Amino acid sequence: MRKYKLNSVDRRLIEASLGVLKANFDDGVYNHTVGCALLCGSGKIYTGVNCDGIHGSCAEYITLGTAISACEREFICIVASNELAPNGVVSPCGNCRQMFMEYCPDIKVILNDDEGRLIKVRARDLLPYAWKRIEAD
Ligand SMILES: [Zn+2]
Repeated sequence: MRKYKLNSVDRRLIEASLGVLKANFDDGVYNHTVGCALLCGSGKIYTGVNCDGIHGSCAEYITLGTAISACEREFICIVASNELAPNGVVSPCGNCRQMFMEYCPDIKVILNDDEGRLIKVRARDLLPYAWKRIEAD
């Protein structure tokens, strides 16, 4: 798996992700405990927090949905955060990895490697042999 080094924009993404969580943190009623920031091709950064409920939704889903609703279609880099996580960064769950495969398999995802260092990897490298929609001929 190819690993990419973080740049200054990536660091801003992490700060934005932690910032939206700090502004909306709720560990009792709605359980907003994860923030997310997404850099789009327009250069704009979108943020969101997870939403709880009978089905709930990860911060990555909320954030990507917000960007799509604003007509963004090119997704560059994404990160999810909790200030208690190593480097303030959490890995995307399996459901989010599948969503990345369907919407933006080449998006870069910021996460911690096994040694606790921040890296970026392509989403497609996080979910080998992913489910794919069957295309009719
Ligand atoms: Zn998730």
